[in-house]
Amino acid sequence: MRLQGKVAVITGAGSGMGESTARLFAKEGATVVATDINEQGVKNVVESIRAQGGEAIAVKHDVTSRASWEDVFAEVGATCGKLDILVNNAGIALAKPFLEQTEEDWARTYRINIDGVMLGTQYAIPLMTENGGGSIVNISSISALTGMAGAGAYTASKGAVRSLTKAAAVDYGKQNIRVNSVHPGYIVTPMSAPHMEHPDYKQHFLNQIALPNLGQADEVAAAVLFLASDEANHISGIELPVDGGVTAK
Ligand code: NAP
Repeated sequence: MRLQGKVAVITGAGSGMGESTARLFAKEGATVVATDINEQGVKNVVESIRAQGGEAIAVKHDVTSRASWEDVFAEVGATCGKLDILVNNAGIALAKPFLEQTEEDWARTYRINIDGVMLGTQYAIPLMTENGGGSIVNISSISALTGMAGAGAYTASKGAVRSLTKAAAVDYGKQNIRVNSVHPGYIVTPMSAPHMEHPDYKQHFLNQIALPNLGQADEVAAAVLFLASDEANHISGIELPVDGGVTAK
């Protein structure tokens, strides 16, 4: 098993890619601390992981709140005693024409998509340092690499995730902490399904992908697993697109 003995915190684990990552990490032997603002969603995921023999705990969590991060890491300390992996996955997508986006739209998107990553990173690094190192995987987006129509706030926030990843990788590499970003393309999840699977839009997305299909959450989880695992021990500060070749075009 690729994560045997590791403790992993995964945010936004009640749905979509976070849920798939939590399930995969547990299958690979990790103790998963699954967090989400959707308490019932994350409890359901954890119950199902446990029913299959995995080790997981659910914590209600708002990534925008420092106090909520403190609760998460108090639980990690009390239950697991250490931290090896943090996956900053929770995020929101606001699709609205650029000129219609308000300051509040930008502030809300930034609070969740980048402030959340910053807070998680600030809490994780001291714990990982105590433990001799660790791996942080931040979920950005191809919008951080290419720009995306109709999503200015989202695109800018995901660009910030990409940059923060590289800054933290450089600052904390000597503590043996690796920080990488994953950039999903068009992935079918509860967040995206209404657009991705809508007959009027599906072909538009497929036209941009080099491969034949839309992406699936477990295909992103597989990339996150690689970066989180010891197999990626000499990889830090990279941006890994999981996009079926969108950004190769
Ligand atoms: P999802 O199914 O909506 O899952 C995201 C989870 O995060 C939801 O359970 C959501 O809860 C939770 N969340 C929202 N705000 C939160 C907060 N303040 N604190 C803690 N949890 C919060 O979305 P997904 O598609 O799996 O997306 C996961 C990540 O991938 C996001 O960062 C997203 O931007 C990124 N991404 C997605 C795609 C795609 O095609 N799907 C592409 C590129 C990047 P609620 O449902 O209650 O809001």
